[in-house]
Amino acid sequence: MTFIYPSSESRQQRQWVLNAIAMLEQEEQSASATPLRKLSLPSLPGITLYLKDESTHPSGSLKHRLARSLLLYGLCNGHILPGTPLVEASSGSTAVSVAFFARQLQLPFTAVMTRSTAAAKIQAIQDLGGHCHLVEHAHQVYDVAQQIADQQNSYYLDQFTNAERATNWRGNNLPEEIFQQLNDLGEPHPDYLVMSAGTGGTATTMGRYLRYHGMTTQLCVADPENSVFYDSYISGNRNLTALYSSRIEGIGRPKVEPSFISGVIDRMVKVTDVNSIGAMKTLSDLLGSKVGASTGTNFYACLLLAKDMIDTGQKGVIVSVICDHGNRYLDSYYSQKWVLEYFPEAETVHQLLNEKFMN
Ligand SMILES: *Cc1c(COP(=O)(O)O)cnc(C)c1O
Repeated sequence: MTFIYPSSESRQQRQWVLNAIAMLEQEEQSASATPLRKLSLPSLPGITLYLKDESTHPSGSLKHRLARSLLLYGLCNGHILPGTPLVEASSGSTAVSVAFFARQLQLPFTAVMTRSTAAAKIQAIQDLGGHCHLVEHAHQVYDVAQQIADQQNSYYLDQFTNAERATNWRGNNLPEEIFQQLNDLGEPHPDYLVMSAGTGGTATTMGRYLRYHGMTTQLCVADPENSVFYDSYISGNRNLTALYSSRIEGIGRPKVEPSFISGVIDRMVKVTDVNSIGAMKTLSDLLGSKVGASTGTNFYACLLLAKDMIDTGQKGVIVSVICDHGNRYLDSYYSQKWVLEYFPEAETVHQLLNEKFMN
């Protein structure tokens, strides 16, 4: 008697999937750890800041890790097969990173983003062979990406849903790399990890990692204007929506994303956009290299925590993330004209922070 089992993939398809997974794993294993940069500011006595520089990934941001995880998730779930077109909704960084890997896997890729996305990101996606589909508002990207996926029979990576589940939170991840580097520096117990939220996935991975490994380090999440994460954290209401798109690229969402998990967060701070952009500029001056605006949000939150620690007589260590490089924003946050038009007070914040910290 012969049994015939139905088969969803042919042998060649399965071999392609195995090769694709091996390629992604190989790319991860051959990558060196991103640098952990130390900042000791004389105006913050007893406080040491460390910044994990995720701008040094080949695709330019912390989304390099996420794109790899989302693709592995789709491959291991049997959703991505040879030639499967990929679609993603993004504020830009994820799309650049997905385009980077899609090209290596020879898969067509469409990025759905708002029209306001930095021109340099759009260019980077196109240079990597991706297609950009631009919409007006941040809240439209989800439905449009889903529609394109349905029409073209493509796979929607859906970072906002899948970031938390596609990312390994127990280890082999961003927080593990940070703690290995801190350990080597003799600083195994930082007081705070500070992170802003786009999908919320990075913060969620950090918070879960801290608990799983029995650490007392607190997770502080920073939220920009036009984002509902902070209000949702305070009220417990996950149905809040915002009318406008965040002006800090990469972070702040008009709805509470499934990958944003309040329970793993110890505290949240709201940072105004003017403070984010001012802090971005001061941090760039301190580091001697440009960082993106979400890194400014992170840095401003670090300064608030540092002040709080100093005011209550504590010393300690605060760790945050350089999410991407400022070169992507030369015609926005780093254009004098643009800043004067949209955030004129940011230059005042920049000057005040420079007077305090550039000494
Ligand atoms: C995505 C992103 C973040 C936030 O990371 P999440 O893990 O999505 O919350 C911060 N900054 C930049 C530039 C990003 O692209």
